[in-house]
Amino acid sequence: MEADATLDGASGCAYHRPMPEETVDITTVTGPPRACDLLLTGGCVVTVDDDRRVLDPGAVAIAADRIVAVGTPNELATFRAARTVDCSGSAIIPGLVDCHNHLFQGLARGLGEGLGGWRWLAEFMWPYAGAITAQESQAAALLGAIEAARAGTTAILDHHYGRTDVASTLAVVEAMEMVGIRGVVARGIAGPLTDVGATHGLPASTSRYTAQEELDITAECMRLRPAWSRVSVWPGPINVVYTDQDLVRRSVDLARSAGARWHSHCCAPRSDPSIYLEAYGVRPVPWMHSEGLLGTDATLAHCTWVDDRDVALLGETRTGVSYCPVSNQYMPYGVMRLRDLRSAGAVVGLATDGSACGHRQDMFECMKQAVLLQRVHTLDPEASNAEEALELATRGGARLQGLDAGSLASGKLADVVVVDLERPHLRPRTRTVATLVYSARGSDVAMTIVNGEVIFENGRCTRVDEAAAMAEAQARSEELILRTGLGHRSRARQESSFIQRPL
Ligand SMILES: [Zn+2]
Repeated sequence: MEADATLDGASGCAYHRPMPEETVDITTVTGPPRACDLLLTGGCVVTVDDDRRVLDPGAVAIAADRIVAVGTPNELATFRAARTVDCSGSAIIPGLVDCHNHLFQGLARGLGEGLGGWRWLAEFMWPYAGAITAQESQAAALLGAIEAARAGTTAILDHHYGRTDVASTLAVVEAMEMVGIRGVVARGIAGPLTDVGATHGLPASTSRYTAQEELDITAECMRLRPAWSRVSVWPGPINVVYTDQDLVRRSVDLARSAGARWHSHCCAPRSDPSIYLEAYGVRPVPWMHSEGLLGTDATLAHCTWVDDRDVALLGETRTGVSYCPVSNQYMPYGVMRLRDLRSAGAVVGLATDGSACGHRQDMFECMKQAVLLQRVHTLDPEASNAEEALELATRGGARLQGLDAGSLASGKLADVVVVDLERPHLRPRTRTVATLVYSARGSDVAMTIVNGEVIFENGRCTRVDEAAAMAEAQARSEELILRTGLGHRSRARQESSFIQRPL
């Protein structure tokens, strides 16, 4: 196929400004036969490497957990693979990296309609989070991880603030491990209910543990799943705005003492910066900066309401920011300043957010919405583009999470996705990156590879029983909703709103 050869350049034409701090050696393989475990060949290889090469056709060789070569099929013809996959008619892309999720929310998908921001938390999510058991969290997380793997997600940064004892936190870790996805569970740290939280309706049940208990439980989870684990644990103070300042500080200390990173929500609803300013006399981002908490180990979800100074501080410290375009519309929070934050230097990754506010584990949907949201907000067709969306979903997310992945290049972790392009909605193909971002869906993924292992192919996850997981999630969801009354309250609210405001 000549499409990308014409428009992108078959080899070596940059399609986006490279990230200067990353250097990758692209090895051209020639000479005597070399062994590898898996050879993907004949597809359109969208590398998202330093030169943003698109090789059509191309090939990727994998040995153990690493990519060992990327090139044309001819350049890789000397490889003798244990398994060779003909990827003709497909795209081969880096695994998609989800930078903010709440897998435990999966049993409540579809509820909480019509609530937003603090009300959504106080009336829906916190009661749900307070009631969920370890078994229910695992059922939700397993369902979500299966859905994500099927849609080409290879890494998830999960912010777990349901029940957060050691067993419940590890139940989510184990669900991701069962499916084979890599990533992080940032253990939600609530601590004592602050005045800000109480004033805005957070129930006292959100405060299960003292600050010291929160740190001890988190430290124990981190000990059991240290930074080198396929799924590790980080501290995840629930929200910079309503988690106690000292507990946020100590959470960051805990992360740094273990060589880990940390994760939190920051300034999602419009009211949050002013709420914080009123309570503490400073906006959240400058406070974190003054305390030395920002940096590459800080990963903050949303940041939809940041002013120019906030943007400059997040940028100069290379802080990670998780962009959640679907949930930002659903809640609705607003539009993240994507161009400003990236221009300032912030490390931006893309994210689905939880199943109760993002609704699908589909990074393809997020890539498309990432662009469209910026365009409709600015009325500028150049506000973002397909290449940027793919970059955020791959190498941007990998940088945010500290993964040696996010591009198809020799030496990188073998997190790779094959997308079937032989489908009517993906034809004609004139520019593969645009096809992937604007036309493809998660259900077009044919194969998901994590750490060199195929975890999804032939329409099913290879490690787990999908039908059993779906049945378990359905049964657990019905039990939980009945127990909490959340379904009844949600339906009653919807019915009354329809009566008041007939369509
Ligand atoms: Zn969230």
